[in-house]
Amino acid sequence: MTATHDVVNPATEQVVATVPSATAEDTDAAIARAAAAYVGWRAVPPGDRARLLRRFAAAVDADREHLAELEVANAGHTIGNARWEAGNVRDVLDYYSGAPERLFGRQIPVSGGVDVTFKEPLGVVGIIVPWNFPMPIAVWGFAPALAAGNTVVLKPAEVTPLTALRLAELARDAGLPEDVFLVVPGKGSVVGQRLVDHPDVRKIVFTGSTDVGKAIMAGCAAQVKPVTLELGGKSANIVFADAQLERAAAAAPYAVFDNAGQDCCARSRILVQRSVFDRFLALLEPAVQGVRVEDPTRDTAEMGPLITAEHRAKVASYVPDDAPVAFRGTAPDGPGFWYPPTVLAPVDPAAAAAVDEIFGPVVVVIPFDDEAEAIRIANDSPYGLSGSIWTENVGRALRVARAVETGTLSVNSNASVRYWTPFGGAKQSGLGRELGPDALDAFTDVKNVFIATDPATEEPS
Ligand code: NAP
Ligand code: MG
Repeated sequence: MTATHDVVNPATEQVVATVPSATAEDTDAAIARAAAAYVGWRAVPPGDRARLLRRFAAAVDADREHLAELEVANAGHTIGNARWEAGNVRDVLDYYSGAPERLFGRQIPVSGGVDVTFKEPLGVVGIIVPWNFPMPIAVWGFAPALAAGNTVVLKPAEVTPLTALRLAELARDAGLPEDVFLVVPGKGSVVGQRLVDHPDVRKIVFTGSTDVGKAIMAGCAAQVKPVTLELGGKSANIVFADAQLERAAAAAPYAVFDNAGQDCCARSRILVQRSVFDRFLALLEPAVQGVRVEDPTRDTAEMGPLITAEHRAKVASYVPDDAPVAFRGTAPDGPGFWYPPTVLAPVDPAAAAAVDEIFGPVVVVIPFDDEAEAIRIANDSPYGLSGSIWTENVGRALRVARAVETGTLSVNSNASVRYWTPFGGAKQSGLGRELGPDALDAFTDVKNVFIATDPATEEPS
């Protein structure tokens, strides 16, 4: 009998679908099909590959509302967020549909001949996706991978497979050749592990926890398999006394409570210059209480539930009864894995809530005295994913942006992800960059070819 997984709506606790759970043998079969399809896919002329990706983007566009509804039911995302996420799949496919025709190599001056480089695809790419942003994280891997001529086997998180399975159908409807883009739902320890271990998978893209990411990197080392890692974060939102405090405070809740805090870029540490600390907290309180935590199918919803009961228990463990709760927002009663937005202050910087990635709607607020101290606190973390700097002083904005050890930063904004620009982490937040022009490097190898034109002058070796 085939094993299955019941997909639960985190806002209602009702089972919304039952999905087969693939075995290691199923995974091997998918990898074999993707490896066979690679031969044909890499040979598809660039213009035709581009056209197929544009058709895939158009199919996603036509199905946007359906995809969004699937994500609301599967992951508890607010309908507004889920619509953005489905649109992001379309946009990222459109963006990388420009790549096949622009995957330029170089011509390098040498003696005795001509030297050119090619950006060759790698083969079968295994993409392992977490549950927090099932659609965007999937497309950030598969769109550039396919554009560069690779085939893809994608494993969604066991608890959130529905949109990935739908995207595989849309790819087929759009005319992508059979087996070029395969989605294999199942357990990380089974399907994910097999992708890491199988010699015909030539690249792994993993997004998820830092611990699993380290194990995957070690697994890839056995075959010197390249790996892109997008791991955890504990990003700092640094507010200087010269910032537009009202704007910074109004935006801060959404920088950490969006997606119920289940965001690797969540600004879960707010660092505030001491001279404006009290005023900032006074502005933050109504902003937090104003976050609409409600039925995610409502257009007005700004935050939904957490993904599972287990995850809620983990988040709640960071807020014991004696925790320094400054104030908190609201959350519905009744079924669903709800947790209210929670602000902790003052917090001991060594406390677990100030150090660990909570991955829920809990934020700590910490004072600092000057620029040097803000940078020191921001960097006092094994993570280095994103962050924000709020100041009206351009020199300070650039100084601090250069000094904070993260892969992505925003000034007077909390945006982390723009598909035109590279995204990824420093330190233990990850390895490699997704999105923007950089992502294509993660899915190609440079091949150098020398062609002798004048054997008489050719240099030995
Ligand atoms: P996780 O365990 O790292 O899972 C991420 C993905 O890896 C899932 O598809 C998972 O499959 C798969 N996986 C698990 N073990 C594997 C293995 N041994 N080999 C190959 N693949 C494997 O993350 P999680 O359990 O979903 O979340 C735990 C914590 O990770 C969160 O609380 C949060 O702190 C962090 N997290 C970070 C991000 C991020 O964007 N940086 C995203 C999600 C989670 P299954 O789902 O089937 O187990
Ligand atoms: Mg896990």
